[in-house]
Amino acid sequence: TMKVLLVLVALSVALDVWMEPIDLSTPVDIRVPFTSLQTVKAFLETEDIPYSVMIMDLQVMLDEEKEQRLSAARATEPRTTDDYNYTNYHNGDEIYSFQDMLVAENPKLVSKIVIGQSYEGRPLNVLKFSTGGTNRRGIWINTGIHSREWITQASGTWFAKKIVTDYGHDATLTAILDNMDIFLEIVTNPDGYNYSHKTNRMWRKTRKPNPGSSCVGTDPNRNWDAGFGTAGSSGNPCDQTYRGPKAHSESEVKSIVDFVKSHGNLKAFIDIHSYSQRLMYPYGYTATPCNDQRELHDLARKAITGLASLYGTSFRYGSVMTTIYRASGISIDWSYNQGIKYSYTFELRDTGRYGFILPANQIIPTAKEAWLALMAIMEHTKDNTN
Ligand SMILES: [Zn+2]
Repeated sequence: TMKVLLVLVALSVALDVWMEPIDLSTPVDIRVPFTSLQTVKAFLETEDIPYSVMIMDLQVMLDEEKEQRLSAARATEPRTTDDYNYTNYHNGDEIYSFQDMLVAENPKLVSKIVIGQSYEGRPLNVLKFSTGGTNRRGIWINTGIHSREWITQASGTWFAKKIVTDYGHDATLTAILDNMDIFLEIVTNPDGYNYSHKTNRMWRKTRKPNPGSSCVGTDPNRNWDAGFGTAGSSGNPCDQTYRGPKAHSESEVKSIVDFVKSHGNLKAFIDIHSYSQRLMYPYGYTATPCNDQRELHDLARKAITGLASLYGTSFRYGSVMTTIYRASGISIDWSYNQGIKYSYTFELRDTGRYGFILPANQIIPTAKEAWLALMAIMEHTKDNTN
């Protein structure tokens, strides 16, 4: 029956798949536009497909989110990163200002690298946390490659502040930064993020037009040169998982590819998404276990155990294909195939109660628990690479 449902999804581009099924026995989360509601309900009932309503009216939640964001916005812009409101969602300009403040406040620890520019010309900013040395081993972390996953950019901002706060105070983080550099790209898809704030809150892809189609954008996490174009992505520019005309066609992707290759000494690559509460390692495009499966699996278990110790939030873990679904052209498969062993992808909170519209009062707890998992991965990377 799931296959039937997927046919319905495929035929009707108006449906927006939020969470795809792993196999025919697991559920799928779908946003149904009001105009298709009766058709879809009738279809499900005719086919005897069980369903439940998780969010009755998304617009109500979007309105609430907007109202909260506006009421929490301060009359004056924050002058320091201490004044920054970490319990609220911020637009791209606000996050860029935050980055510049953080660099200005911590010139010996943080610098900003512009690795390229987006299709619409926005800078692709990466924060580099470094205590010195020459081309030290590095850890790459990016958030927000899918623009509507707002909890990830908000968490990335919190991580950046956490790093400067803990350096010199937390022994584990201090040891990591005394031996390795951390690179953090918070707004990895700035055009999409801007669009998700100004026009369509549900925007996931880049904003580059597709010749011959009225549909805009490519899924920047199906665009990497790892199983590119195979099952697990779409060739239709109107789909949310459109892979693009060729691997690395999106400047937001190509800029990371070029940076990673030119750096040459990255040991971990962590790509952070939401939602569904999972921690995953390669592969997404093949069921063949990766060479380091056992070690990556054990480390994932350790990381999510640490994460759960804070609030009891439970994460599933495993390879992308076995834990979530077949996905081709994804970032961590590419980074792993480049020789970066500790390649992981997170799906942060929640499991669908709010989906992408996670209330802002969950930003700090979500970031705090994820940080424990990140620390486990970063410490292990420090201790097991040279
Ligand atoms: Zn995502």
